[in-house]
Amino acid sequence: MIQLHDKQFKPFLSQAQLLAAVKNVADKIAADYKDETPLFVGVLNGSFMFVSDFLKEYQHPCEVSFVKLSSYSGLTSTGIVETLLDLPENISGKSVIILEDIIDTGRTLKELVHLFSQTNVKEFKIATLFHKPSVYNGEYKIDYVGMEIPDKFIVGYGLDYNELGRNLKEVYQLNQNTMINLVLFGKPGAGKGTQAE
Ligand code: 5GP
Ligand code: MG
Ligand code: MG
Repeated sequence: MIQLHDKQFKPFLSQAQLLAAVKNVADKIAADYKDETPLFVGVLNGSFMFVSDFLKEYQHPCEVSFVKLSSYSGLTSTGIVETLLDLPENISGKSVIILEDIIDTGRTLKELVHLFSQTNVKEFKIATLFHKPSVYNGEYKIDYVGMEIPDKFIVGYGLDYNELGRNLKEVYQLNQNTMINLVLFGKPGAGKGTQAE
């Protein structure tokens, strides 16, 4: 069990499980793009570890870049997506594959789709390491999924809880008993018998 800010997190995915999911995505994309040179676009900040391990598995010709959407983003009244780090130049005609850390409701994905709809890329596909199908709005097809996970908050391997936990090399899941402990016993983890794992 680890503590980040006010919450406790329990181990969820090992390094071996993570790398297997990453390799799964890399192998599928490699099979589909064997005659092409795709441009991978990682979505900062959360995807940095995924992108790094992904590229070590994807040993074929490719280009790599990053994009960062502002956290208050969404479409403005003018219909323009706010970006902190903009799209790479000269992407027209390229086959772009987005590398996302996690697709939850799909709200961020909608912004990305809108951003790329203003370009004239040849093709635009989505790869995500994690996906929570039970809460996804289903608006767009997700082309490559590393691992489907339940609707529980996770941290580590690039993913944060209020900016902590990105550097963890394994993935942890919010310990749902934290709230019960806080209510019943006044502090996290104090409840006898509530720490199941
Ligand atoms: P969506 O827009 O699909 O609802 O959510 C995508 C974004 O929400 C992700 O890029 C990530 O920043 C955040 N997010 C969604 N689920 C989780 C989670 O389980 N853990 C963490 N750390 N962030 C999440
Ligand atoms: Mg993300
Ligand atoms: Mg975050």
